Amino acid sequence: MDFCDAFYNFYSDSDTYEKIKEKFNGQQLTFVNMLYNWSVQDTPSYKAKDAKKKKMATTGTLMKSSSSTHFKQYLSKLISSLNWSFNTLQRKGIHGKAARSDVDFGFLFDIDGVICRGKTVLPSAREAFCKLVDTNGKFRVPVLFVTNAGNTLRQRKAQQLSQLLDIKVHEDQVVMSHSPLRMFKQFHDKHILASGQGPIQEIAQALGFTNVTTIDQFRHHFPTLDMVDHKRRKSAPCGFEEYFPRIEAIILFGEPVRWETNLQLIIDCLLTNGKPSAASSEIPYPHIPVLACNMDLLWMAEACIPRFGHGCFLHCLESLYQKISGRELRYTGLVGKPSELTYHHVDYLLDLQAKDMGTEQLKTIYSVGDNPGSDIYGANLYDRYLKKKAQSRSKFVKQKALQSNGLSLTEVESESHEIDVTVPVGKQSSEEVEENYAQSCESILVCTGVYCSTRDYVTYGAKCASNHNHRDFVLDPELTQPKYVVPNVLEAVNMVFDKEKFK
Ligand SMILES: [Mg+2]
Repeated sequence: MDFCDAFYNFYSDSDTYEKIKEKFNGQQLTFVNMLYNWSVQDTPSYKAKDAKKKKMATTGTLMKSSSSTHFKQYLSKLISSLNWSFNTLQRKGIHGKAARSDVDFGFLFDIDGVICRGKTVLPSAREAFCKLVDTNGKFRVPVLFVTNAGNTLRQRKAQQLSQLLDIKVHEDQVVMSHSPLRMFKQFHDKHILASGQGPIQEIAQALGFTNVTTIDQFRHHFPTLDMVDHKRRKSAPCGFEEYFPRIEAIILFGEPVRWETNLQLIIDCLLTNGKPSAASSEIPYPHIPVLACNMDLLWMAEACIPRFGHGCFLHCLESLYQKISGRELRYTGLVGKPSELTYHHVDYLLDLQAKDMGTEQLKTIYSVGDNPGSDIYGANLYDRYLKKKAQSRSKFVKQKALQSNGLSLTEVESESHEIDVTVPVGKQSSEEVEENYAQSCESILVCTGVYCSTRDYVTYGAKCASNHNHRDFVLDPELTQPKYVVPNVLEAVNMVFDKEKFK
């Protein structure tokens, strides 16, 4: 694991992460080497134990335990040797002391349709969050805000939430749909074409992408491609088109403003292997990699009926590509809810918060959302993963116990089928998804957003005539069934507190 990422995973501090990257001049330093080199150079007293320490670091023992005093000592000294104040890096300050030492649950809150609609905070949201903080405004239980929005930096989102809810929300508590792209390191140095709106170049760079071209910039280099709007047509072709470096991958951050421009230019890249200065003699397939964030078909703003989400744009893109090329658009990665990868990421982050509060093991994640197709589907999918993983683990333990007695599982049990544990995309590129922390993820549907019991745009289960899930998430009606349905976010918090006997 790269040191900078190890640091980020531990502290989730993007400013310092950038500073460290800058300090090391973009060098790829593995965490193990960094720790090893530093300990040899700066702490002679540790020399005798170098081999043991290196082994510990290699096995990730230190990384996997955020409460490890060794890890904190190493990191503290390293950071102070780099002239940054260790105290400023502490994630302390988000939480107060846990109300009791056995707080073993945490919350994931969706934002649009749960906390607010557009810029308007929903009634009861402030009261709900008052219950979640102590008299000093510190969170009493682990809380993350997990949104499929992707057109802003998470610092900005944290500021918006702080203003809406009148409490201090830290950027560490915000997970955007694009956050897991940090794990797709194999693309970080590729030439990326970024589609979306807002500060997407800044967002891509903050995630680790080093060579980013936005659709607007691309359009400027290839002025004859965008022809739908007559007023935006440019007659003089650019003479440097053929020298423009090939696009190696496309990232779809969120819905763009001018759909026709983005659809045209993205499909041009897919049909020409990333170089639309010359037409290919045949359509390349598989096409260049495509990563997409946020598959929500609809979302709820101030209007009384749901609005187009990024899922609508993806649907148009898939359909056009299929129609033009005769082939299916394939995604290398789909992130944001309901992708399982996003839930691995949030499980990891919630566990860090829990440990900060002195809780060793998080048992239950309560996931509160308004969209059966993303919030509920995603939470149930992750719960299914956790249950299978637990089954698999207990089978393994049982097998080990039997083996030590000279028996095998098949001799004592007729059940011989393998348990299929889903491996998330990008698993190989991150240590954080190798470990899951919670034991279950329970879905709670609120009726203040996309889902509403009195209208039929979106519903769940057998009543649903249409399928709002993304094409690659096969509709399993069972997964769209929430474990609980409550009127609003305040009732969700009350219900969980009752269930957990938390005051
Ligand atoms: Mg929502």
